[in-house]
Amino acid sequence: MMGDIERWRGQGGEIEKMMRGDLLGLKAYQPIIPPEVLSERAGVPIEGVIKLDGNENPYGCSPKVGRALAGYPFYHIYPDPEQRELRKALAGYVGMEAAHIVAGAGSDELIDLILRLFLEPGDGVINCVPTFGMYPFCTEICGGKVIDVPRDKSYTIDIAGIKEAVGEKNEKTKIIFIASPNNPTGNITPQRDILELVKLGKVVVIDEAYYEFSGTTVAPLVPRYENLIVLRSFSKWAGLAGLRIGYGIFPALIAEQLLKIKQPYNINLAAQVALQESLADIEYLQDTVQKIISERERLFQKLGELKFLKPFPSQANFILCAVVKGNARVIHEGLQKKGIFLRYFDTPLLRNSLRISVGRPEHTDALIEALKEMC
Ligand SMILES: *Cc1c(COP(=O)(O)O)cnc(C)c1O
Repeated sequence: MMGDIERWRGQGGEIEKMMRGDLLGLKAYQPIIPPEVLSERAGVPIEGVIKLDGNENPYGCSPKVGRALAGYPFYHIYPDPEQRELRKALAGYVGMEAAHIVAGAGSDELIDLILRLFLEPGDGVINCVPTFGMYPFCTEICGGKVIDVPRDKSYTIDIAGIKEAVGEKNEKTKIIFIASPNNPTGNITPQRDILELVKLGKVVVIDEAYYEFSGTTVAPLVPRYENLIVLRSFSKWAGLAGLRIGYGIFPALIAEQLLKIKQPYNINLAAQVALQESLADIEYLQDTVQKIISERERLFQKLGELKFLKPFPSQANFILCAVVKGNARVIHEGLQKKGIFLRYFDTPLLRNSLRISVGRPEHTDALIEALKEMC
């Protein structure tokens, strides 16, 4: 493959010249590394890999999902472009009418669709860094301009800064993204702050991918405003990251347009079945969410006992840790050799830091043991 690429570039790269210049310069999104690759890197059998880098659910999905998928008889039929069954099921779960709901192949797809609906080339998108990398990534692919407004030292959003950024750029600024709880910092943005932003009249997207772990939501406010959107996901709490299913709660006018511009068959039938079975087994799932929340608190305490780490309180299923003595990259690599995988950050706003997904109790024990051995 590589040889081929070099050969065509060498001959003038005529095809590349036809591609959009802004995309050629775009930095690739830093994606998750699959377990097979992690296993090979660490020289640990795949069952022994302790994967705490993707905020996935360590208990997996509801056991009903596998049984229902095996027996489902209609995979040869296209899924419903209007997502009728799905939206009805989701409407029941969120307690809102189906007219407000659109499902996506992961909430990632909805981030992209929202941007496609609103952005024209050069339009601004407010990004409260440090935060989820998908907002700037999708913004740039849609030809928009990312306007970073840094959070403060405790990772609270800077409302005055956002107001200023919105004011300056005026009509060309259209969307404000806020993850609440925020990834990777774990803190929520309070409702009064969100309402301050809604008053600015721009589209405010509250990404509640971790809602089930925080119990905090602004979803009931959506029907009262024309510019407030809430995004949710089945990847984290329901253990369906691999099947790609998320949804948004939208003002009905926006939902209608999104349904029109999305790919007609964006939700595959396996994902639809999995979502319905998950909602039918909600008690089981809520029980695993409770286990993860208790384990989060135990992990937070254990990390705090290690003098070289400073964990930040979290309302999600992961904990951000600043390494206050020593080198986060060395710790990250040392743990990899033992088959334990975390997310490592070293950016201007997230210096020398690690993000640790909450695993099962035995994962916490193995991690803490390994950290003690290393430092
Ligand atoms: C994981 C995550 C998502 C993506 O969810 P999918 O439904 O898997 O696409 C969205 N937002 C945030 C903040 C996340 O951490």
